[in-house]
Amino acid sequence: MTEVRIRPRQVLILIIVFIVLLLMVHRNGKRTCDGPDYLQAMYTQQQSDTLPKIYAITPTYARPAQKAELTRLSHIFMLVPNLHWIIVEDSNSTTPLVRNLLLRAGLENRFTQLNIKTPQEFKLQGKDPNWIKPRGVEQRNLALTWLRANVNVDRHAIVFFMDDDNSYAVELFAEMSKIKPGRVGVWPVGLVGGLMVERPLLDQENRVVGFNAAWRPERPFPIDMAAFAISMDLFIKYPQAVFSYEVQRGYQESEILRYLTTRDQLQPLANNCRDVLVWHTRTEKTKLTAEEELIRKRKRSDEGIEV
Ligand code: UDP
Ligand code: MN
Repeated sequence: MTEVRIRPRQVLILIIVFIVLLLMVHRNGKRTCDGPDYLQAMYTQQQSDTLPKIYAITPTYARPAQKAELTRLSHIFMLVPNLHWIIVEDSNSTTPLVRNLLLRAGLENRFTQLNIKTPQEFKLQGKDPNWIKPRGVEQRNLALTWLRANVNVDRHAIVFFMDDDNSYAVELFAEMSKIKPGRVGVWPVGLVGGLMVERPLLDQENRVVGFNAAWRPERPFPIDMAAFAISMDLFIKYPQAVFSYEVQRGYQESEILRYLTTRDQLQPLANNCRDVLVWHTRTEKTKLTAEEELIRKRKRSDEGIEV
């Protein structure tokens, strides 16, 4: 009988190979940034008290799909305990539709409902061929005024501009909670600017050194509104930081950020900008030809029903 002898050196090599394999499997499994574990931690009361409050500013306007969009968004608030919703209606008064939706989502003490109508005359200012009526400018500025007047700046807080038609992963808000005082956090956005993903580019030390934008890459910050969130203290430090009607299409993000940060001060999040946790989806305009037909006959399908 031949004896199989394993030398200590071979055992050592086997152990090393095993450990390397284990590490590789572990790394591959962890494709996304702090997801479920982090969220679990958020749910415990103690954690949610220590997490910074995130103020999500949502401009919104009346159209057939408004309630559907806001209902989708309200589910995020039901899942993320440190989120406060500043919802600003583009209308002459706040509406029961929005108020009831907020209450039905159980957000009693976690929302602020404001309104301001976008002035009509801004539609006519289009001297520049690229100029179109900026969406949500008036509303976001009102929310900033409210924040500067009402938020206790002694506690670290985050501000995020959360358009009502995008798609947001719950993990995005876990990531945002990591933004440090005095910093602006950035991450990739899916389906925007003519690309599958627009994202910040990082160097070896994980500092932001550029962006991959294809559309108007010469912008100071060629990123979407959904690509960043801001430490609240910066809005107090720089009271002149507001959105403006005077800037070209696609420059709102650069307009606000130029007051608050520089490229090298940006804090990369979402697995060093490798994970997509928000998508710039757009809802198609609702077709209501049959409804219009009904309305001509002084009838409607939603008589007495809020849609
Ligand atoms: N919005 C608004 N009034 C308008 C048009 C848009 O308050 O007249 C809001 C809209 O609900 C959204 C944000 O402004 O939250 C950005 O608008 P939109 O999603 O249409 O812009 P885009 O997707 O083209 O960036
Ligand atoms: Mn949109």
